[in-house]
Amino acid sequence: MNEQVNVIDLNAYFGHIHVLKGINIAIEQKQVTAIIGPSGCGKSTFIRCINRLHEVVPSARLSGEVFLDGKNIYAPDVDPIEIRHRVGMVFQRPNPFPVLSIYDNVAAGLKLNGVRKRGQLDGIVEESLKMAALWDEVKDKLGASGVSLSGGQQQRLCIARALAVKPEIILFDEPCSALDPISTGKIEELIFRLKQDYTIIIVTHNMQQAARVSDRAAFFLLGELIEFDRTEMMFEAPADKRTEDYITGRF
Ligand code: ADP
Ligand code: MG
Repeated sequence: MNEQVNVIDLNAYFGHIHVLKGINIAIEQKQVTAIIGPSGCGKSTFIRCINRLHEVVPSARLSGEVFLDGKNIYAPDVDPIEIRHRVGMVFQRPNPFPVLSIYDNVAAGLKLNGVRKRGQLDGIVEESLKMAALWDEVKDKLGASGVSLSGGQQQRLCIARALAVKPEIILFDEPCSALDPISTGKIEELIFRLKQDYTIIIVTHNMQQAARVSDRAAFFLLGELIEFDRTEMMFEAPADKRTEDYITGRF
């Protein structure tokens, strides 16, 4: 087993509320892992701990360790910005930078990383938009505003933006919740293709989606990881009654 992310006894608190309770999980390279569970059980907090994004918003207090390729991302010598490039994030609501063009949305992270040559930027922007299955739809209007696109296209633009800085892992936090079924299908197809090259962790409320796209599924309840297994196993023969109740819609 090729473990890329190893989470050891991770606890998170917002004030006195204990939102992640001793999470231990190992996530393999180039697999899709679905994080499922009811609202408020800590799914978003959990994935934000994997790229230190929780530090950007009013932050949770953490204990425990998160290893990425064997190195603790919370070690004092680790730069959180570098971690966020290695572990990209796509959110529930597509959030392209509103004042930037389609081109600059994808190029922004590269420019921050010091890539300045137009030819090099052009190449990576094209490649990223192609990987996000958006190139054909936007190649003739790269100067148009990112927010002029449809919701589904904006979400693929956000995926291209994440891909441009060459991440190893992509976190998706309910990426299709705000999208129509056709756009959802396109994102699912994309996730399927991306897993050849990337490790993917996707939070989803949609059990069919979890079954379609993921290799493994982790069921969270009230801040605890209740069950983690091959998705097929979890859906066919859940080991814990609470998992069964959740996936069959009994609570
Ligand atoms: P999920 O993504 O599973 O819906 P979250 O990780 O967003 O759950 O939230 C877990 C718990 O932490 C919830 O009780 C939520 O209200 C609380 N929480 C999340 N973010 C914050 C925050 N920035 N400040 C205070 N409490 C928060
Ligand atoms: Mg959430």
